[in-house]
Amino acid sequence: MTPQLIDPFARAVTYLRVSVTDRCDFRCVYCMSENMTFLPKKELLTLEELERMCTTFIGLGVEKLRITGGEPLVRKGIMTFFQSMTRHLDSGALKELTLTTNGSQLERFAGDLYAAGVRRVNVSLDTLDEEKFARVTRWGRLAQVLRGIDAAQAAGLRIKINAVALKDFNEDELFTLTEWCAARDIDLTFIEVMPMGDLGNEDRVGQYWSLNDVRRQLAETYTLIDLAERTGGPARYVRLEESGQKIGFITPLSHNFCESCNRVRMTCTGELYMCLGQEDMADLRPALREHPDDDAPLIAAIHKAIGLKPKGHDFDYSRQRPDGQVSRHMSHTGG
Ligand code: SAM
Ligand code: SF4
Repeated sequence: MTPQLIDPFARAVTYLRVSVTDRCDFRCVYCMSENMTFLPKKELLTLEELERMCTTFIGLGVEKLRITGGEPLVRKGIMTFFQSMTRHLDSGALKELTLTTNGSQLERFAGDLYAAGVRRVNVSLDTLDEEKFARVTRWGRLAQVLRGIDAAQAAGLRIKINAVALKDFNEDELFTLTEWCAARDIDLTFIEVMPMGDLGNEDRVGQYWSLNDVRRQLAETYTLIDLAERTGGPARYVRLEESGQKIGFITPLSHNFCESCNRVRMTCTGELYMCLGQEDMADLRPALREHPDDDAPLIAAIHKAIGLKPKGHDFDYSRQRPDGQVSRHMSHTGG
């Protein structure tokens, strides 16, 4: 299908990330505060509304759908939503249906996800140390996530681990994580910590471990081959010659990737964020709710929003304070 969502900078929007809940069974320190106030349930798009919204985007040329949150697999009935997207995979309109999860519910849902047409899953995992895992997620248990990863692999899902690089936290696990993934044929991507949410007393500049440094350390042990592969996002990839594994680096702070940006993000209430690093958003919910039998107003609202997609973001740690910071938490827009 010819993409229909073209922004003012001639970028085609073909990738939609959808947060299906702001809730989560973990409280990762860089993502949420311990006492989060969540949205009242009536604010959330229902599963049927999510289905209609995604179907509309797919009709406008979106080929890749990533479901995220909060924790997407804690949303009640979420498998119904995944199953409702299968027909778009079958028709060929949707090329990929995937999700980002903390892995806590994968043991339960891996088989159903595969059956719905999901083939790849990103699992967030920053450490393989039980005590550190409990510390960084506050409420998570490592063993449960590892069982989830095993179940997903057994179901035929390809796993990519996303690890947030945190200074003085998982610096010493760079090689453990790399080797653990290699042994399980799992891809690994490191993410720089981003200045999201209310900093409060958390020192996010202090948490920042540059991926240039991660890369340099890896290069002391492995031969890194740069891969040309780009996904339109902030990730760059290398292959480790010795193990053959692929390692990704998501560096929204150290590199500008905006020129190839092909994505937009929708919150669980139907707000469309055209850029992860900007406050600008368009609320699509009124067009959806007020016209239950007519998609035209929703389509018009989507086109209008895409017309406002900014050229890029302004994150910058270079002056030792997180400039360009946006006030919402990552769990709101789904990362
Ligand atoms: N709950 C799911 C999970 O953890 O994978 C999906 C939502 S979570 C918000 C998506 C991703 O954002 C996770 O990989 C998480 O590590 C990452 N993330 C959250 N806060 C972040 C921050 N301040 N900087 C960088 N990455 C962050
Ligand atoms: Fe939950 Fe994911 Fe945020 Fe952790 S990163 S608190 S698992 S939404």
